[in-house]
Amino acid sequence: MMTNPTIPKLNFSPILPLIPQNVAVIGAGAAGLVAARELRREDHKVVVFERENKVGGTWVYNPSTESDPLGLDPTRVVIHSSLYASLRTNLPREVMGFRDYPFVAKNGAQRDPRRFPGHVEVLEYLNNFETDFGLIELVRLGAEVRRARLEGGKWKIRSRMRVGEELDEVYDAVVVCNGHYTEPRIAEIPGIETWPGLQIHSHNYRSPEPFQGQVVILIGSSASAVDICRDIAGVAKEVHIASRSVTVGTIGKLPGHNNMWLHSMIESAHGDGIVVFRDGSAVCADVILHCTGYKYNFPFLDTNGIVTVDDNRVGPLYKHVFPPLLAPLLSFVGLPRKVVPFALCEIQSKWIAGVLSGRVLLPSSDEMMADVEAFYRTLDASGIPKHYTHYIGDSQFEYNDWLASECGYPPSEEWRKEMYSAAIKNMEVRPETYRDEWDDEDLVAQAHEDFKCFSKGNGNLSQ
Ligand SMILES: Cc1cc2nc3c(=O)[nH]c(=O)nc-3n(C[C@H](O)[C@H](O)[C@H](O)COP(=O)(O)OP(=O)(O)OC[C@H]3O[C@@H](n4cnc5c(N)ncnc54)[C@H](O)[C@@H]3O)c2cc1C
Repeated sequence: MMTNPTIPKLNFSPILPLIPQNVAVIGAGAAGLVAARELRREDHKVVVFERENKVGGTWVYNPSTESDPLGLDPTRVVIHSSLYASLRTNLPREVMGFRDYPFVAKNGAQRDPRRFPGHVEVLEYLNNFETDFGLIELVRLGAEVRRARLEGGKWKIRSRMRVGEELDEVYDAVVVCNGHYTEPRIAEIPGIETWPGLQIHSHNYRSPEPFQGQVVILIGSSASAVDICRDIAGVAKEVHIASRSVTVGTIGKLPGHNNMWLHSMIESAHGDGIVVFRDGSAVCADVILHCTGYKYNFPFLDTNGIVTVDDNRVGPLYKHVFPPLLAPLLSFVGLPRKVVPFALCEIQSKWIAGVLSGRVLLPSSDEMMADVEAFYRTLDASGIPKHYTHYIGDSQFEYNDWLASECGYPPSEEWRKEMYSAAIKNMEVRPETYRDEWDDEDLVAQAHEDFKCFSKGNGNLSQ
């Protein structure tokens, strides 16, 4: 079914005078760029702080790794991106792109026309987004926010430029877009302190060569874990995957691979190099690679304890965006996980921009807090652990559509929802080849029909 693809620049008839705000956006990845665009569309004055020398966040591949391969040493120089060299997207490009800036294949030396392109293509797309919407003038590159603190109803932002000097400024509102794939979470393994091998977090994995001839245990079953174990299996002597989500009958050698085994979680590690799994099997390993995810981290943010990170729950946050007591002057873009990030960040940003200008109204702080508490009770009642608070996965389109209705924007296109489900199913059915074989050509055709109205020059790319 086709939906109306025409997305207006702003769909409202203001009753109140709109109030432009001075807004600091922290981070110029996909979230920060789209937040900047939406804020400027509502006439806010925007500065985007970006500590790196390029925009694109995660998608700026960095071949270097951190001094501590586990990423735990607080004194290490942090490398932002967790990309590995071979990474191709795990979503089809039609689904992955912003709603009103389709991620279509382009001609050019750096371009990758594949439906699940390599990471360089995603960075090119974000660079094109920045250029086409004239966002360059809003971004301060090499400017790290060291502290953001609310004082007397205004945000005091202290930033440090790469060259060293610090700057203190005052803003009305802060939008946090600092990403959440940089601060590693690692697995707790009894006996690990005596185990003599090398431990690495996937944040510091770039390519398989260092694992030549090694026995590697990889912990995890996320999309990255699946990619990395196949990357490594090409050169390693053995790859053993330790996963929480194994089912009876799947443990053992993986079909189609002669040096890869699936195990249950690790039970213990020992001084002689042996690692024992809960299923009773054991191997003598050289490396443990933790593909165990990341922690939310906002080292610069001082809210006087109003917003905390507790077991990876950032809260309290109304709809994963606004802390009830600080709304709308503080907001977060891109916290939900297991989602299609770009489109979600886009609609969250429209909501934030509309709320800041007074076009879109929020409930009272008490009502928002009651909503958050009810949400936490629902999670508890369903037995969902705190650290899954922001895993909205299956309800992401419902979430996006609720936000869209709040700010007068059409709901997600039917083809996008169907294509997302088809891609997830295809990944399960064809784990080795899903990026190159699919059955949803009809949905691709519908997407391209919709995309026709977004070609540059037809008025829809207005700033
Ligand atoms: C290995 C991997 C594979 C992925 N694959 C896909 C995929 O196939 N498809 C998909 O859609 N998504 C994928 N993602 C998710 C990806 O993170 C999102 O697509 C998107 O990049 C998130 O954008 P963001 O702006 O929220 O965060 P980021 O891209 O992380 O950007 C945050 C920015 O904030 C900056 N920053 C941080 N702290 C400060 C500070 N104090 N001051 C100033 N600047 C600061 C950082 O330098 C960075 O530029 C993947 C993620 C990873 C890690």
